This record gives sequence, structure tokens and C-alpha cells, in this order.
Amino acid sequence: MRIDIITIHPELLESPFGHSIVKRAREKGIVEINLINLRDFATDKYKSVDDYAFGGGAGMVMMIEPVYRAIEKLKSERNYDEIIYTSPDGEKFSQKLANNLSLKENILILAGHYKGVDQRIREHLITREISIGDYVLSGGELPAAVITDAIVRIIPGAISDEQSALSDSFQDDLLAPPVYTRPAEFMGWKVPDVLLSGHTANIEKWRHDQSVKRTMRLRPDLLKR
Ligand code: SAH
Repeated sequence: MRIDIITIHPELLESPFGHSIVKRAREKGIVEINLINLRDFATDKYKSVDDYAFGGGAGMVMMIEPVYRAIEKLKSERNYDEIIYTSPDGEKFSQKLANNLSLKENILILAGHYKGVDQRIREHLITREISIGDYVLSGGELPAAVITDAIVRIIPGAISDEQSALSDSFQDDLLAPPVYTRPAEFMGWKVPDVLLSGHTANIEKWRHDQSVKRTMRLRPDLLKR
């Protein structure tokens, strides 16, 4: 799988993709992630990528031409299954959408800035608009990192124990059960006996019950689905 991200701040994304599961997935060749600097596609000597909004008002707008040039160049090199624009008014990101995107071959993400990108890019070149939640961030880099991380960790092979990704919260609309590790008792706080019993079937049943209880308590909306 290949994920390309067009951004005006590539340096913001280097660290999130240079550690932990995403780093290892890149090293293993499970995913290739490329950061494309939008300024390389600017057309003037100042490398401008923003301009005043037509109609006036505060705030700048991401210009159409550098974005168009960047997307068209990338499209000429390969077919993209999705060209995603990160936007607070987009479809709400979810585990389901992450699962769906993790099956794709080539994904392009445009990280927005300023007041957003010229609407004509959204109308003519973007295939999907994704929001990571009802709040406004300064730019699309963190959303692009969130989306990429969620996709990459569920590509088979990214996590050594695939079962671990399948038992995450939101897979099957259930929250994950509580987890414990050694010591079995700390300051008088005990790990549930069943987890120490070695009885696999009982442990599985306990975990499932805990998942259901936790979901009922914290996210009853998930159970109604
Ligand atoms: N004026 C715009 C917000 C601009 S924020 C509005 O009200 O909709 C600048 C950029 O950050 C956006 O273009 C988008 O790419 C990104 N961004 C901000 N919040 C986001 C969110 N919740 N989800 C996805 N992208 C977001």
C-alpha cells in the first residue's frame, strides 16, 4: 500500500510516521508513505500557496494552481483509489472507514490549511472528504497523521499479533475489555482471578462480558447499531 500526503509542513509529519507501528510497517515494506511539499508546486518565486479570499473577509485560502499541479503530477504516475481532503465538514472518520481504506492500494491525502482549499479543487479532484471530529485544527497534518496511523496498524502484518488489532475497540462495535499485566497484586489491588486461571474459554467469556458491560456503560449508542 502507498499513502501520499500533500502538505505545506512535511516536517510536522515526519515524527508521527517515524516511530512505533507505522515506522515498523514502513521498514517491513508493508506501506510506503511519501510526503509531498506543496511549495514545490508553487508557480511564483515566493513559493506562494495561499491568496486572499474572493469576496473579502479575514483569512487566506489555499490556492488552486499549486494543489492542481501537485495532484495532477501524482495522478500521472499512478491511479489513486481515493484522493482525500481533510476537512472539519467532511464525513466523520471511524474504525469502519479506516478498515475500508486499509484495503486500498494507493491513497492520496491533501492536508488543508488557512481557511481551506479553493472549493474548485474539492469539486473536481477530491473523491472523499474526512473530518476527524467536531473541532477545528490549524491544519490537515494532524488529521492526515491520524487517518494514516489508523489505516496502517490494521494492514495485515503491521502488528505481529493480528488478533490484537481485531480485538481493538470499535471492531464489532464493542469497546475493548480491561487489560492487566504483572504483578498480579499491587498495593492490595488484585487482577481478576479468571485471568490467572489459565482457562482459555472462561477468559474469553469474561473478556466478552467486560466488553459488553463497558460498551453499555460508556457507549450505549454502539450497541444500538
Ligand atoms: N475554516 C475552515 C477550517 C479551516 S482549518 C472551516 O471552518 O471549516 C484549516 C485546515 O485544517 C482545514 O482546511 C482542514 O484541512 C484542517 N482541519 C481542521 N480541523 C479539521 C478536522 N476536524 N478534521 C479534518 N481536518 C481538519
